[in-house]
Amino acid sequence: MSLPQITSPFTFQNTYAALGESFAVPTLPTPVAAPHWLAFNAPLSAELGVNMTVAVQEALLPALAGNALLAGSTPVAQAYAGHQFGHFNPQLGDGRAILLGEIITPQGLRKDIQLKGAGMTPFSRSGDGRAALGPVVREYLLSEAMHALGIKTTRALAAVVTGQPVYRETPLPGAILTRVASSHIRIGTFEYFARRGEITQVKRLSDHVIARHYRECAKAQAPYKALFEAVMAAQIDLVARWMQVGFIHGVMNTDNMSIAGETIDYGPCAFMDSYDPATQYSAIDVRGRYAFGHQKSILQWNLARFAECLLRLIDEDVDVSVAYAEQALAGFSEQFDAVYFGLMAKKIGLQSRAVAEPIVIALLALLETLHIDYTLAFRQLGQVLLMGTNEPFLQLLNDHSQTGQPEQQQEVIAWLERWKSALAEQGDSVDASADGNTAANAALVQGMQQVNPAIIPRNHQVEAVITEAVAVQQNMTASTPACYPKFEALRHALQTPYDSVHESSDLAQPPTRAEQRSYKTFCGT
Ligand code: AMP
Ligand code: MG
Repeated sequence: MSLPQITSPFTFQNTYAALGESFAVPTLPTPVAAPHWLAFNAPLSAELGVNMTVAVQEALLPALAGNALLAGSTPVAQAYAGHQFGHFNPQLGDGRAILLGEIITPQGLRKDIQLKGAGMTPFSRSGDGRAALGPVVREYLLSEAMHALGIKTTRALAAVVTGQPVYRETPLPGAILTRVASSHIRIGTFEYFARRGEITQVKRLSDHVIARHYRECAKAQAPYKALFEAVMAAQIDLVARWMQVGFIHGVMNTDNMSIAGETIDYGPCAFMDSYDPATQYSAIDVRGRYAFGHQKSILQWNLARFAECLLRLIDEDVDVSVAYAEQALAGFSEQFDAVYFGLMAKKIGLQSRAVAEPIVIALLALLETLHIDYTLAFRQLGQVLLMGTNEPFLQLLNDHSQTGQPEQQQEVIAWLERWKSALAEQGDSVDASADGNTAANAALVQGMQQVNPAIIPRNHQVEAVITEAVAVQQNMTASTPACYPKFEALRHALQTPYDSVHESSDLAQPPTRAEQRSYKTFCGT
């Protein structure tokens, strides 16, 4: 089979494909019936160095649908393994994703361009290599929201509707996402080679990763120890930031953990509404292995699997390597907490982690028992300072929790006073009405609101967008161009998550109906 070749707005390099067929198997996309755009991300294409005029964008459609090949690309499916829900699977790989190649951005950054849902590959096993429209819309919205929140992630360059159905429980419209990532190398990529005992390939992969993501490790005395530590630091930073904004990845299998420390593989993921560490939305995660509050310990478990892959590179004597890995992982918890509580301290305007930690823990306990919305709670703390009254926070008890008893109000007021005393002790004015010092408060609140989003992609809103997109496809006629007003509105709002303009928007509000709260998502297949 061959595909027509078209001029590419990107200049491709193919360094991963060049590692050889044990890493990446040449695989062409499978053409689709009647591709049309759902979304195109013009700001991202500009970041990638391409000025996407309407004509260039239109010319790109067949290539992003898998109906044509961009000149210079060497499409491949990447091999990887992985621990899924704790069990090792020696062969996963890109079952429905095809890497077109890498490009270098004007800032000199190397980025993968990948099609997700572009047809069967040698790794498809029993799957069809396709993606349904719903999961593509979710990944588009959530990954772009994550980026706007300032958290490392793969990006969405485009979503194309294929014009042909995929068959899940029912026939659904099919779609293809064009994904941009620093790389698609996962912990599972290391496991693929390490578990087969292919130490030469583990070394080649490690050297590729060091050259690509962690150049400083090449200069270290022990480069592979440095690599382990760099990946651990990157993933700690990532997961701590997820938790800071209430994100649950939902399927933290080792094949879904990017070595570059980006959020990858948006499947049954979601942002939490009311705070509860046991929250998980994945229909397949019956035991809650990947619940919100388990993400720290799962990360440590995943990093232990990564360390196992590097043992034979770290030292010739594996016992020495094991001792090193144990010692490095023993420091994990403290390292994670330092990052996490550092971030949480900022959310409540405190400079000292030590002062903030018990105050944050007490707040989270209150949010949990009172079922208070996580995002709104932190945002309203800013309002408390700006308005010089506890009212904006206390209102959450009436509006968004199923409780609101007087004794619980007292507990909340006691916490607010404790928090304000801590602010006062660090020299911040907290009582705008008493001393009229609103300017000092404004600066403090501004700092807080830069890490407390006013809007997140809430599940019920994302679902409404998907329902609309599916309905548009099902009712589409040749004469009416498709448009997706809900998608456009939510996508637009999520570009500026910290802007106070969203505080009064319906899109920012928590779910009100019980069925919206008992939300479940299914793996993005
Ligand atoms: P995920 O749960 O999306 O991270 O995928 C886990 C594994 O299943 C990966 O190897 C995927 O490539 C593969 N996979 C998921 N969906 C499909 C599909 N529709 N067709 C083929 N392979 C798939
Ligand atoms: Mg995956």
